[in-house]
Amino acid sequence: MSETKVPLAAVLGHPIAHSKSPQLHGHWLRKYAIKGHYVPIDVAPEDLERVVQMLPTLGFVGVNVTIPHKEAVLQLADLVTERAKLIGAANTLVFRKDGKIHADNTDGYGFVQNLVQNAPKWNPKGGPALVFGAGGAARAVLASLIDIGVPEIRLTNRTPERAEQLRAEFGKTITVVDWVQAGNAMEDATTVVNTTSLGMVGKPEMRVPLDALKPGMVVSDLVYTPLQTKLLRAATDAGAMPVDGLGMLLHQAVPAFERWFGLRPEVDEELRAAVLR
Ligand code: NAP
Repeated sequence: MSETKVPLAAVLGHPIAHSKSPQLHGHWLRKYAIKGHYVPIDVAPEDLERVVQMLPTLGFVGVNVTIPHKEAVLQLADLVTERAKLIGAANTLVFRKDGKIHADNTDGYGFVQNLVQNAPKWNPKGGPALVFGAGGAARAVLASLIDIGVPEIRLTNRTPERAEQLRAEFGKTITVVDWVQAGNAMEDATTVVNTTSLGMVGKPEMRVPLDALKPGMVVSDLVYTPLQTKLLRAATDAGAMPVDGLGMLLHQAVPAFERWFGLRPEVDEELRAAVLR
């Protein structure tokens, strides 16, 4: 690549100052000595289409998209992967050399790879999963759990209608469990996942009974501020395998970086430390 064609990538959101993606991709660019740049860009919804169309001409090879643009970008893409269609949102755009915009959603991939890396004994096919939450993150988690062969998913949400809606969309692997029954539904689950914002800094704590947690269960929290949530502490105390949410953020970035910069990057302790700094 010539000096004038330094590859550029970005994360588009509104607001965007909180994003950890620049630290994450910046670490990999330095580690692999790639002459590229990754920048945060604050884009208001009314400017999204114009900005996305302009970026390839400025040397951008792709972008991540975050709140509130994840659904809207599907309309701007020429090609949308099956998993992004199923989830109904994209987090990664690739600006192809033929001018086409390719949209993908790598959140579910990141979720699964995080468990594979940090709970190597995890057997997703070994029993039911209990999933808390029915928002955007839940859609990615459900799609990936179904894809990897989890036999039954018990879905529980404060607003049951949203869980019912997901059951209608994702099919019979999902059964909807009443929020107040979630503690019971945990008893023979082998995978437990929190996709709600409960436990996050500034949000209420999870108040669901957690005494059914036991050894052998893999317990994952998507919340990563703080890293150690009440759910993960309870999992540790019960002898279950806790997996924090930061790894999902790190792993979802791998396919994007590889497509943009041509090298599959590693998720390791050094990367975690760089993102936590
Ligand atoms: P979202 O679409 O707004 O969904 C929020 C979910 O949390 C809904 O299920 C909502 O239930 C539930 N919730 C919120 N407040 C609640 C309360 N007081 N009591 C019970 N349930 C409550 O958000 P999202 O995009 O799915 O994100 C959810 C969380 O996942 C956030 O903390 C986000 O940071 C995290 N996340 C992490 C990663 C990662 O890489 N680790 C990736 C994506 C998201 P209702 O339907 O009843 O409102």
